[in-house]
Amino acid sequence: MEHVVVIGAGLGGLRTAEQLRAAGFEGRISMVGRERHVPYDRPPLSKHVLSGEWAEEKAHLSGPEELRALGVETYLGDPAVELTEGRVVLASGKVLTGDAVVVATGSDARRLPDQPAGVHSLRTLDDSLALRDALSGARSLLIVGAGFIGGEVATVALAKGLKVTVLEALPVPCVRAVGDQVGQLVGRLLSEGGCDLRLGVGLKGFVDEHTVELSTGEQITADVILVGVGARAVLDWVHLPGVDAANGLACDERGRVHGATRVWALGDAAAWDDEHRPGRLRTEHWTNATEQAAVVAKDILGLEGPPPALPYFWSDQFGLKIQGLGRLDLAERVVPVRGEGMSGGPVKGTVVAYLDAEDRLVGVVGFGAAKWIPRYRPLIAARAHIEDAVVA
Ligand SMILES: Cc1cc2nc3c(=O)[nH]c(=O)nc-3n(C[C@H](O)[C@H](O)[C@H](O)COP(=O)(O)OP(=O)(O)OC[C@H]3O[C@@H](n4cnc5c(N)ncnc54)[C@H](O)[C@@H]3O)c2cc1C
Repeated sequence: MEHVVVIGAGLGGLRTAEQLRAAGFEGRISMVGRERHVPYDRPPLSKHVLSGEWAEEKAHLSGPEELRALGVETYLGDPAVELTEGRVVLASGKVLTGDAVVVATGSDARRLPDQPAGVHSLRTLDDSLALRDALSGARSLLIVGAGFIGGEVATVALAKGLKVTVLEALPVPCVRAVGDQVGQLVGRLLSEGGCDLRLGVGLKGFVDEHTVELSTGEQITADVILVGVGARAVLDWVHLPGVDAANGLACDERGRVHGATRVWALGDAAAWDDEHRPGRLRTEHWTNATEQAAVVAKDILGLEGPPPALPYFWSDQFGLKIQGLGRLDLAERVVPVRGEGMSGGPVKGTVVAYLDAEDRLVGVVGFGAAKWIPRYRPLIAARAHIEDAVVA
């Protein structure tokens, strides 16, 4: 193993390089990035960078000197446009050949049909700076999509004094991430936080960059419009015959791309074999990219990787942290274990347990309950029965 080519200079790409060095790899590491920026962190883009509390540099995960010290050759602002077995072609025409290739290219914000150029999306640092500029001086914001990013941007905009309207096609926000009952708590946060939340609303299309038309014919106008309807891994530049790239590159449980040799994938761009049920799992959370990078780096070097970790995400909205730990998607039902949110009381302090068909704990979601969530970790890992899942 002499040369590892990492495609994607984001969180997962950088962590892969760091983990390779930490494991003693002394060969070449090349890192290819589509954006001109050094690797940076995305969570602050909808929080501290967007609010203006942080200068953009504070979101950087590494600087040119640190990358040099790590012994990483960077190709920034020069995206990979083709990947064939062991060979990566960049937009500039440069060709890199590696003994191992790691795809860590993340995902791109989903755009709606005929979305005007002046309607915002939020995925990159440049997107965040453009939205920040647009919000300063604006009086109203319309957010299409009541997901986590929509909720975080709404939080920032309301704090700046904007009128915020949120449109959601489904009857409950975040239902795919946390399910129906807990999604209703997310909805309460949005409306109690001051948003005009419109649920179950169909969007007919855009009139222009300030106005949308609903399926009812009603038009809504705002100074700024943000579309936050999820993300997708764009992998049309990967040309590996027989490899499934439809929803993230299909990989085994160590990140090896099925059907390819010496190619690994991780983070938002990858769908790893699910250890709990048939099929694969593509996860768009920060800790997932970090943890998978550690597994991939070790596997490239033929070393034993860390054991699988419990999925974890967080989102900061309306002064509290929403946290999800474990495999919420495996749950058959949910029960409240702390706080009053599920019975109509304050959302803050509520913890909800996710249970499988045998009433064993597969996950928890907490709202402003950061002190409690880690205490459920060993119980989820052990799949404790709900009667034994008492946390003091
Ligand atoms: C605004 C925002 C807020 C978020 N907040 C949270 C949060 O609060 N909690 C949480 O758990 N998760 C959060 N996430 C999700 C988390 O940031 C991602 O899951 C994580 O960044 C994924 O890491 P990654 O390395 O897979 O992808 P990325 O960090 O997206 O890095 C991929 C990199 O690859 C580059 N790239 C793409 N295509 C190419 C190409 N062809 N050639 C070369 N380079 C390419 C991209 O430009 C990018 O820099 C947030 C995401 C966003 C966008």
